[in-house]
Amino acid sequence: MDLFEHQGKEFFAHYGMPVSPGEIAFTVDEAVAAAQRLGTPVMVKAQVHAGGRGKAGGVKFAADLDAVREHAGNILGLDIKGHVVKRLLIEQASDIADEYYASFTLDRSAKLHLGMLSRQGGVEIETVAVENPEAIAKIWIDPVDGLTEAACRDWVAAAELPAAAVEGSVDVLQKLYTAYVQGDADMVEINPLILTEQGKVHVLDAKVTLDGNSEYRHPEYEQYDSTQVRDEREAAAHAHGLQYVGLDGTVGVIANGAGLAMSTVDVVNQAGGQAANFLDIGGGANADVMSAALEVINNDPAVKSIFINIFGGITRGDLVAEGIIEAMKRVEIDSPIVIRLDGTNAVEGRRILEPRLGDGLMMEDTMLSAARRAVELAE
Ligand code: GDP
Ligand code: MG
Repeated sequence: MDLFEHQGKEFFAHYGMPVSPGEIAFTVDEAVAAAQRLGTPVMVKAQVHAGGRGKAGGVKFAADLDAVREHAGNILGLDIKGHVVKRLLIEQASDIADEYYASFTLDRSAKLHLGMLSRQGGVEIETVAVENPEAIAKIWIDPVDGLTEAACRDWVAAAELPAAAVEGSVDVLQKLYTAYVQGDADMVEINPLILTEQGKVHVLDAKVTLDGNSEYRHPEYEQYDSTQVRDEREAAAHAHGLQYVGLDGTVGVIANGAGLAMSTVDVVNQAGGQAANFLDIGGGANADVMSAALEVINNDPAVKSIFINIFGGITRGDLVAEGIIEAMKRVEIDSPIVIRLDGTNAVEGRRILEPRLGDGLMMEDTMLSAARRAVELAE
C-alpha cells in the first residue's frame, strides 16, 4: 500500500521523527484556511502517489495567503504523471540549509535490509546512482541484529554528512529503521531529509509503502486501503479476493500459485507475446474463483486470448476442469482460451474438458506449447 506524503509523515511522527505541522485541504478555500491556522509562509504540496512532484509544479512556496490561494488553485486538478491532484498538504515552510537522502528497503537477493544514505538529497536518487554512485552510502542490516547505534554512526560517517547534521541524522535514521521494521513497511524514503538554518535535522518529504499483508497486525492501516489508487481491473479483482496485477500485453493469464503465475508471464514473453496481467487464483480453483478470474480478464479490452495454466498439487485437475466448464456457463467469454492442465488428477481433468474443446477452448500438453498457441491467437 502506497501512502500519500501526509500519511507517510503521520506514520513517521508516530515513531518520533520530526515533521512539519501541516493540514490536508481538498479545496482552495480549505487550503487558505489551513494556511491561516498554520501561519505563513507555508508549502502547498500536491498529494499523489508519484514522485517528482516538485519538478512537475506540484510543490510551491507561499509567502502569504494570496500566494496560497494562487498555488492551491493551480495545483488542484494538475496531472502529475497520470495522477490528478485532488488533495493538498499545507505545511509550515522550513528554512533549508542542506538536503540529504535516506531510505530503507529489503534487498531480496542479499536477504538483508538495505539502508541508503546520501549527502546529495532533494534530487532523484536514481540520478545520483547513475551520475555519482559514490555519494550513496549503503548499509546492509541483518534483521536479527537490527540497526545498532554504532553501525548507524559508521554509516552516517561513510555518507560524509556535515558535522552539524550527524547527531540529528543518527537519531532520525534509527527511528526510521524502527518505523520500517515495526510498521511492516516494504519501503521508507525521506528525500529530502534536511538540516534547517536553525541546525535541526528534519523530515521534509515522506514516501512509504506498507506491506498490505500486515494489516492484521495494524488495524489502523485500513484507513490507507481506501486511498489506494488501483487500476480498474485491479479494483475488480481485489473485490473478488484475487491476486491480480494489470500489465500491458494481450494474453490474459490465469494460474494457480504465484510462482506458476510469474513463470506463465515469462513463458508468454518467451513465446513472443506479452501478458495482459498476472493472476494467481491460489489453491482453490473452484467454479466461483474461476468465474471471477475469467470475468476480470474478460473485462479487459486489451485481452485477445486467455491462457489458463494449472499445475495441480493439492488442487485437483478434475475439480479445476469442472470449475472452468461451470465458469464458462456463467461468463460469456470474448476471447479463445488455451488450457494447460497437469499434476494431480490431470488425466481426469482433461477427460472432462475433452468434449468441450473447439475454437473457444483449446488444450495443449505443455506450458510452452500452450503459451505459443495463446500468443498466436492474440496476434
Ligand atoms: P517531490 O518533488 O515529489 O520529491 O516533493 P518534495 O516534498 O521532496 O518537495 C520538492 C522540493 O521542494 C524539495 O526537495 C525542497 O527543495 C522543496 N521544499 C519542500 N518543502 C520545503 C520547505 O518547507 N521549505 C523550502 N524552502 N523548500 C521546500
Ligand atoms: Mg522528495
